[in-house]
Amino acid sequence: MNYSLNYLVLGETGLATARRLQAELGGVIHGYGKRVQAADVRPFDDVAAALRDCFATGEPLIALCAAGIVIRHLAPSLGNKHDDAPVLALAEDGSAVVPLLGGHHGGNDLARHIGEILDILPAITTASDTAFAIALDEPPQGWRLANPADMKAFVAELRAGAAVMIKGGDGADWLRASALPQAEDGALRITVSDVALAGDKGHLVYHRQTLALGLGCERGVEREELIGLISETLRLKNLPALSLAGIFSLDLKTDEAAIHAAAAHFDIPARFFDLAALQAQESRLANPSEVVKREVGVSGVAEAAALAAGDELIVEKRKSQRATCAIARADKIIDPTTLGTARGHLAIVGIGPGRADWRTGAAEAALRQADIIVGYGLYLELIADLIADKDCRAYQLGEEEARVAAAIDMAASGRNVALVSSGDAGVFAMGALAHELLDRDEAPDHWDRISLELLPGISAMQAAALRVGAPLGHDFCAISLSDLLTPREVILRRVVAAAASDFVIAFYNPVSKRRRDLLALARDLLLRHRPEDTPVILARNLGRAEEQVIALPLVDLQVDDVDMLTLVMIGSSETRARQRGDGSWSVYTPRGYAAKQTPLIKDNQA
Ligand code: SAH
Repeated sequence: MNYSLNYLVLGETGLATARRLQAELGGVIHGYGKRVQAADVRPFDDVAAALRDCFATGEPLIALCAAGIVIRHLAPSLGNKHDDAPVLALAEDGSAVVPLLGGHHGGNDLARHIGEILDILPAITTASDTAFAIALDEPPQGWRLANPADMKAFVAELRAGAAVMIKGGDGADWLRASALPQAEDGALRITVSDVALAGDKGHLVYHRQTLALGLGCERGVEREELIGLISETLRLKNLPALSLAGIFSLDLKTDEAAIHAAAAHFDIPARFFDLAALQAQESRLANPSEVVKREVGVSGVAEAAALAAGDELIVEKRKSQRATCAIARADKIIDPTTLGTARGHLAIVGIGPGRADWRTGAAEAALRQADIIVGYGLYLELIADLIADKDCRAYQLGEEEARVAAAIDMAASGRNVALVSSGDAGVFAMGALAHELLDRDEAPDHWDRISLELLPGISAMQAAALRVGAPLGHDFCAISLSDLLTPREVILRRVVAAAASDFVIAFYNPVSKRRRDLLALARDLLLRHRPEDTPVILARNLGRAEEQVIALPLVDLQVDDVDMLTLVMIGSSETRARQRGDGSWSVYTPRGYAAKQTPLIKDNQA
């Protein structure tokens, strides 16, 4: 079995143990920089932060250290038992393993697997597990417990010695093969049922996800209408909502908000078939419609989609005002991930200027969730610690349009893609280009059905500012001096306007190999409006090992001191620059004008 998981090791002994497990289980090893030579990703130097970062991924975490270290550091991050990622403490020498969190959603299984590999007995501490080798509230994939609220009382009875009568259901081997005490006349009951059934404290009910819900609807239908139609249909036929494995429809509906809202409501995925897959079901439709055939190309979306995912139509098409649904049952548990495609997702992620601790949590989460990472090679190196186990597509500088189009196209095929920009993805970066490509007339229709999201990053001008003080404390603007996509006259006109309006100005792309004159022109234009000693900040390679930040007067700004990796910031007439006693810069633009000064220290006598 292959897990997508993380190991955290603090020393060489732990590393050796982690390597043994990794050979069987896969996963990524994170090593403590001071003591571990060769882990898989960039070493960490803050154990607490590394633990919390790994935990935040939602992937199982095996911490090769004392359980106490893990407990102390993760305590502030704990959520609830249903959502928290599995966390295991494993002795560095591999002599003991304890699932600490998420035992019932993977932690115990993982501990058992590790126990087999290392030939040790896992220390499993969850109640039903220890006694009966089964997690009744975490049934296998495709099974759902209808009355989890009754679990506690049920297990208490079990532990007091009651036996269980297990009724119904193919494939309930996980129940029958468990160590549950079973008896035909048991005081407790477990029923596996495909119809809605109320359980109680002495009676647990399980449903299998064998139902496919086919859905057709008009554009813009309300979520309440869909949820209402589905709920009423289930109720009329006495079918449990928990038996639904997925909502299925035609790919034209991939971006229908109400379908995704209904899928979220029933906690199942929405999947979409292409027209050919639905047409293949034509002969099996119970209620074919000529009108629908003319409009959509298939004689009924709901029934065809249900049948494309299930085996037998058990609920024929039912209608609400603007939607239709139908239900098919499959002989086996349905794995929706193998049917049709999901709505693809494109996350456009700003990774900040370079440093890991200048990345936003939302950006990191999006990178971790993505399956495919697209970006300029240098940026992918800057986030190597986050994407070690992903499908990465590195592009050269300059191939922006090809890069963005490829990312959109992969998302449009149902994948979860992250497109990486430096700084913020919406600032002189890929965000606008992605929106523009989707908006073009020649863009394939299916492109615009992806879900699209920009994740925040710290832009170079913010990073430059915070390195020297607070020069963006009052009105400012940003101008790119790149004339690749903007005519020079337009750039110069904006420089003049900004100069005349006394904005602080952040110049992005101040020079290129070929273009060196625009910055000199800009300086000379500015000198007509601002004093010679106006503070200028040259911030180079911000957030990277080679970072260099200096302040100098406008009159001394030399183009040769600036390269493509520099952010140039020009102060307004109000911006002050001074060096503090310790040599650090204090460049700031006062928020108000001097007239508004209030005393710093209030007179106590007043
Ligand atoms: N999206 C980016 C900007 C990309 S445009 C952002 O929000 O920061 C490229 C320009 O940004 C470079 O020419 C340089 O002027 C500036 N820049 C980007 N990263 C930088 C860094 N780490 N240090 C200094 N300047 C940087």
